[in-house]
Amino acid sequence: MSDKAKCEHCGKESEDVKERPSMTSYDWDGKGEDPNRAGELCDGCAEDYRAYWQERWDEYYSSVL
Ligand SMILES: [Zn+2]
Repeated sequence: MSDKAKCEHCGKESEDVKERPSMTSYDWDGKGEDPNRAGELCDGCAEDYRAYWQERWDEYYSSVL
């Protein structure tokens, strides 16, 4: 057994790969795959993911305020 998980994004197997909380809040009817599920990402991809969604949320908040 290995404690290395595989990154969902780049496919890298590493001890850095951890479950990362989702930053999305899509409407979901409870059917099929949860679009807001947590993902298993390595540190590099998690940082990209976080930065990407931070930008989207910043845009969103700046457009509604
Ligand atoms: Zn990765």
